[in-house]
Amino acid sequence: MSASRGKKIVLTSDETMMSSYYGGVMLGFAAIMPASVLPDWIFRSFFCPPVPARGDGSAQYAPCGMRKVEAALLEAGYSRDDVMVAHPAHLEKAIGPDTKIVGITHDDPMGKIAVRELEDIIRRGPPHNRSKFLALVNHPLLKKHKPRIVVGGNGSWELIGEDVGVDHIYLGEGESDFPEVCRKILLGETVPPVIRGTAVPAERIPINRGATIGGIVEIGRGCWRGCAFCSPTMRTMRHRPMQNILEDVRVNLAGGQRDILLHCEDFFAYGSKGMHPAEEKVLELVANVMKLGPRTLDVSHLSLAAVHQSQGLLRKISEVVGVGSNQKYMSAWIGIETGSCRILQMHMPRKALPGDIGNWPEIVRDCYRLFDEESWLPVASLVLGLPGETASDVIKTTELVESLKDYTGLMLPLFFTTIADTKLGGVRGFAKQDALPEHWELVGLCLEYNLRHLKKLHRLYSERMTAGPAVHAALTGINLVADIALNKYLKRMKRGEAPN
Ligand code: SF4
Repeated sequence: MSASRGKKIVLTSDETMMSSYYGGVMLGFAAIMPASVLPDWIFRSFFCPPVPARGDGSAQYAPCGMRKVEAALLEAGYSRDDVMVAHPAHLEKAIGPDTKIVGITHDDPMGKIAVRELEDIIRRGPPHNRSKFLALVNHPLLKKHKPRIVVGGNGSWELIGEDVGVDHIYLGEGESDFPEVCRKILLGETVPPVIRGTAVPAERIPINRGATIGGIVEIGRGCWRGCAFCSPTMRTMRHRPMQNILEDVRVNLAGGQRDILLHCEDFFAYGSKGMHPAEEKVLELVANVMKLGPRTLDVSHLSLAAVHQSQGLLRKISEVVGVGSNQKYMSAWIGIETGSCRILQMHMPRKALPGDIGNWPEIVRDCYRLFDEESWLPVASLVLGLPGETASDVIKTTELVESLKDYTGLMLPLFFTTIADTKLGGVRGFAKQDALPEHWELVGLCLEYNLRHLKKLHRLYSERMTAGPAVHAALTGINLVADIALNKYLKRMKRGEAPN
């Protein structure tokens, strides 16, 4: 098949997903800003540069989920001539008359997850992630050759009920059923508009065939805590065999990545069956990855409850990785969600286990103290507007955030969003008009916290950033402008008023 006729199956995404954001995790939040506030050229130059492209139009780095789907297709018997992970700026080299399927991986295609309230606060048009996604599904080559558009990934549920030209919404894990879905489409058989991929056993999560954005290496899937707003695909907890994880690390290092990020829903749960961490397995994994020689090692999500019961484990990980000597920091993406034990009991009854749910604020504070001592940077989410939440619940969250304000980190206040198929799936999401003065006070406090710590975070994150001095200087300038521009909203919200 000649390249100009296109590949049968093209995997890609828009530029907000196909960027490593200079390796600076906080820059990724620029994707939720509208173009009228953060013009396209600034967004591209200083926040979201595209991943490198190869001569054939393929992307050198791709999201981990897309790499898994690519590997699953190749394992299922499709050849390299059939399948390509395409760079969004070079689709003319990938899509042609022979292209029958374009698989798009996305975390937030309609901008419904990450800090959704920002759109309401600023009221200056759609965020970059939505605009770029819609531009991709309306790409002239897709209009011309009319391949089936299948959207998968963590944010694919956002497309349910949306009429944006997507043929199939793929929910759940891709390795299980996507190769078969492709076979049916290629044979002209019927495929439903919404597909539910089943969970694969951990040993069947394939080894990637190329490097991932951010050097992300998946170590497991699922979470047993079962929070009511969380995706059901989280429900079966599994961990990959050590050798497969190490192989994915090798693939990344060979593909040009130097920094490795081990990903699962709770790093401390690696190798354990229940709520007690298997400490020696976690440490063995960390030590084995370090032996492969990454420049830095990081982990994604952690459960605060697990950290709290295994504080010694966190200290040992710091030691093996060399935090403070080999690298400046490690990250901790955590879910605080609320400061109200009542709300926790209602919607997240297992969140604090094996700790006592009534001690949640103390558990959070103890963990922040530990993170600070060990140079781990917490990026925390809060969920505002969960069903049944009252002003006094919100005040408890505000008091908790207030008590953490001197610790460096980021605090993300997220409006409760209904995710399809969750336990709260039938409930209406939280919107601006539902917000109480206490909610705005809390959002204002989080904004103040983030602006206060941004400069230090920039300094620490620059260890892994690929940006040159000019970009760093520009980012410092943009920080200052953001300080000034957001100050008026911040003051209003801290008074308990809506930002506009
Ligand atoms: S602890 Fe996190 S990953 Fe686990 S169910 Fe709750 S929100 Fe989901």
